[in-house]
Amino acid sequence: MHLVSEETRWECQRCGNCCTVPEWGRENMKMLLGHELQPNGRCFYLNEKNMCRNYSERPLICRMHPFHPDKESLKIGKPDFSAGKLLISKSCKGLGCGEKVFRNRQLMKKLGRIAEELSAKIKTMKSGTLQELFYTR
Ligand code: SF4
Ligand code: SF4
Repeated sequence: MHLVSEETRWECQRCGNCCTVPEWGRENMKMLLGHELQPNGRCFYLNEKNMCRNYSERPLICRMHPFHPDKESLKIGKPDFSAGKLLISKSCKGLGCGEKVFRNRQLMKKLGRIAEELSAKIKTMKSGTLQELFYTR
């Protein structure tokens, strides 16, 4: 994971890597997504054009990727996607492409909504498993 700086740029390149093992590990990926993978390791919903066939219903982890709040903010139930806290997956092919992350209003709005969803989810969780936290629609 990389800390997102004022200079960090990102734009999805539709490479499909984040919807394919081994980035997360087959079992972890199945657990987080809550559904099967294709025999070649691609998510069941990933089509041949690297588009999600379940886009509007995809799990929260997919809506959030490649961005993540830092662990401390998650622990206290206040996921923080702001400067100095926001992390991005180093393996994402979109890192370094497109607009600066913190200048991208649409993206920041989306991450703000996800932070609220995560926060509400954490409040209702009985036990803190990753699946409970991220496998929400
Ligand atoms: S790895 Fe990054 S660039 Fe590739 S599809 Fe996923 S989010 Fe987009
Ligand atoms: S549900 Fe969609 S976005 Fe999520 S891993 Fe599968 S194809 Fe990718």
